[in-house]
Amino acid sequence: MNEDCIFCKIANGIIPTKFVYESANTVVFNDINPKAPMHMLVVPKKHYATLNDLDDKELMSELLQSVKEVTKKLNISDYKTLINTGKGAGQEVFHLHIHILADKKS
Ligand code: AMP
Repeated sequence: MNEDCIFCKIANGIIPTKFVYESANTVVFNDINPKAPMHMLVVPKKHYATLNDLDDKELMSELLQSVKEVTKKLNISDYKTLINTGKGAGQEVFHLHIHILADKKS
């Protein structure tokens, strides 16, 4: 847990947030500034600044599994996923997250 990280605070319950889905090591919540009718973020509970820092293959798998589970839960079959890695690629929050974007509202 990184004390200065907003997503650490959200994922670990320090900032109360409604989770759309939660697994053992990940949470999914709505993006505060949605760029599509449905815009969620899949976030590991443990802090990794970027995808480049993640070396836990089980967690990689669990993150993608959470994408599948939350879209299945919301009955969304068509969606985009995005991971911005590094400032040059547009990453603004340096806690690894997968964007899920869809035309359907949750
Ligand atoms: P990125 O550019 O990939 O780092 O994306 C960061 C995303 O986090 C943006 O889409 C923001 O709207 C979103 N975001 C920032 N702060 C919050 C927050 N407190 N709760 C939910 N989403 C957030």
